[in-house]
Amino acid sequence: MKLVIFDLDQTLVDFITIHDETTLELFRRFFGVDARLTDIDFAGRSLADNFGELARRKNVPADKFSEKLPELLDNYERIFAEKMPQDASRYILPGVKELLIELDKTDNFIVLYTGDSSGTVDTVFQATGLGKYFRFSQYGTEVKTRTEMARKAIEKAAALTRRKFSGKDIVIIGDSVRDIDCGKEFNALTIAVATGFHSAEELAAHKPDYLFKSLKDYRKVLKAISGTSKWVSLVDIIRMIVFVLIALILGLFGASLLFSDLGPGETMTRRLIMAVVFFFLSGLVVSYFTPKFWLLGGLVSWGGALLGFGGLLRGPTTETVIYLLPSIAPAFIGGYLGGVVGRRQLLGKLVRRLFRRG
Ligand SMILES: [Mg+2]
Repeated sequence: MKLVIFDLDQTLVDFITIHDETTLELFRRFFGVDARLTDIDFAGRSLADNFGELARRKNVPADKFSEKLPELLDNYERIFAEKMPQDASRYILPGVKELLIELDKTDNFIVLYTGDSSGTVDTVFQATGLGKYFRFSQYGTEVKTRTEMARKAIEKAAALTRRKFSGKDIVIIGDSVRDIDCGKEFNALTIAVATGFHSAEELAAHKPDYLFKSLKDYRKVLKAISGTSKWVSLVDIIRMIVFVLIALILGLFGASLLFSDLGPGETMTRRLIMAVVFFFLSGLVVSYFTPKFWLLGGLVSWGGALLGFGGLLRGPTTETVIYLLPSIAPAFIGGYLGGVVGRRQLLGKLVRRLFRRG
């Protein structure tokens, strides 16, 4: 599991024209000057930070600015929301939706960090429908720097998942050099995307681990995110050994179901149905807990398979087929399904969704 931290503006969506119009309107109203976000190097900074620099540039007296700042931020959320079109899907950058949908199928923990305020993010999420892909958002209005924002997000993710994220288990994806610099402070995997204010050359100079023109080729981005997590860890190996043993024990039970005598009143059909269900469920459970090695689920049929192959050597009979088919087929089908459910954490997602609705 990796912690993937996305920036919002010009990484996932591009509402800069609306941010610009909102800033212009408010600076005119509050300070009587024309000021746009794009007048300064706004990328990767909090809104309050950007306003401070704009005010200095436009010679707004410092005391007047600090006195008006809270009101300015409040009005910002409202005006930004008023200017937002009902359906803002065209403001979502290419490949973003596909990337988020694919990431949603993995066990990675996806969060957002942004210099925007929570009200502005709510407006963006409502208009774009992107909110459902993020476990939480860390806002720039709560802390001063991008690094503090990331630190808070990492701590919060650790508390929620009860696991520690460090080094390349943390992935930071953003369009500004500040996203890269911030990622480097945590030795995180940094993915820069040149869909913002900073050019590909400027981004490259800060040496991100990966640099993409856009997120359009989302499969490449997915690969960059998963990086080393494709390797099998020691914990995975221990887990696999334990489940090999469990699979063998279940297989032994299964085999005894196949070759033991029928009980009084028990029919062969009933016994076979029981065997099929047993192998299917055993394969499902084993693979659910070891989704990376879903073929293990098939191992639960080893007893039946052994009896079947023994029969084949002596010459195939109906008995051989009875040993092979009701054990191998359901064990592998169950194993495959268990792997899919386990890998996508479908049960966890279902529980989370129920909780959210509740
Ligand atoms: Mg950005």
